[in-house]
Amino acid sequence: MKKVAIVGAGIIGLYTASSLQKKGFEVTVFEKESLEKVGKKSCSTLVSKRVLDFLSLDEEIIENRINKCLIKFKNKDVVLEFNPFHLVLNREKLVLKMIKEAQFKIVFESRKTSFEEFDYIIGADGANSFIRKSLGLKDPKFKVGLKIEKDLKDNSDITITEKSKNGFAWYIPKGDYVEYGILETKENLKQAWRKFDKKGLNMSFALVPQGLILPKDKKYTLVGDATGLTKPWSGGGIIWQLYEARFLVETFPDFKKYNSRVKKFFFFKIIKGRIANRIVHFVGGNLSFLIPSKIKYDNDFPNIFASLVKK
Ligand SMILES: Cc1cc2nc3c(=O)[nH]c(=O)nc-3n(C[C@H](O)[C@H](O)[C@H](O)COP(=O)(O)OP(=O)(O)OC[C@H]3O[C@@H](n4cnc5c(N)ncnc54)[C@H](O)[C@@H]3O)c2cc1C
Repeated sequence: MKKVAIVGAGIIGLYTASSLQKKGFEVTVFEKESLEKVGKKSCSTLVSKRVLDFLSLDEEIIENRINKCLIKFKNKDVVLEFNPFHLVLNREKLVLKMIKEAQFKIVFESRKTSFEEFDYIIGADGANSFIRKSLGLKDPKFKVGLKIEKDLKDNSDITITEKSKNGFAWYIPKGDYVEYGILETKENLKQAWRKFDKKGLNMSFALVPQGLILPKDKKYTLVGDATGLTKPWSGGGIIWQLYEARFLVETFPDFKKYNSRVKKFFFFKIIKGRIANRIVHFVGGNLSFLIPSKIKYDNDFPNIFASLVKK
């Protein structure tokens, strides 16, 4: 039986591990954090209901249901009606559930750097991937996602976003508490950070990569944040990366096929997403009368041009 090492027990590494194990591979997951810390990464975990095509969720993992997003442009508010609707998940509970149900071996070991005893090695080790670096590949571009949680009950079904200098800020009602966050370049965030009164705030941050980096190798590959694949307009990675992981499992262990499948599916979505993002912010900031106040919107695979201009 072929032996597979997956480095990183985030949502994507664990999903990939369980799918490959079901396909008959002998999978071992290596995680550098302890079991107490592994689910605690800074992430809003707001995902469309497409997540249910990949993961089974208990009710206790779902913190809130979100149907709409209010975008606050300079002179106008626009409501995006999410289609499909979104769920706010408790990331820590989800990761712990996936670990508890795992039928494969998980090794919590912070110092393991060599995986040569395995037939295949998958780097699912996040934005700052050690495996990507050890293959000599360049880093993707990074922004930083910062989130702050506040004890305040809000069960409403609408998130709010507003453009910042090179990114955006958000508000997410999470039922028993609310979350404020910002996705920005490191430089812009540093400037704002100095002016900010941080006393007593429950805050955390992490890198958000943007790119699509896939090694040309027969033994090693990458998946998830390690490849840099996130939605260009939001930095959301989970749904796109679950598709990426599914492509990896379907083509495994033919990494050439995996690369071409991922590129074929995502390349134009990334380019289109980058262009659409700029156009939406330009039109929203300067010509907002062109935009309807309500738009039905698929936040994973949008057709923004079709819905943007007022009919
Ligand atoms: C503030 C913020 C908010 C976000 N909100 C959303 C959102 O609402 N919706 C959404 O879809 N996406 C969101 N994202 C993005 C999302 O968090 C990521 O795209 C997704 O979690 C990536 O999953 P992953 O499993 O690839 O990586 P990770 O979740 O980063 O998991 C990688 C794992 O690898 C481990 N690891 C790292 N190095 C090593 C090593 N050398 N050896 C062993 N283990 C290692 C890490 O400890 C970690 O457990 C957000 C990101 C941030 C920063």
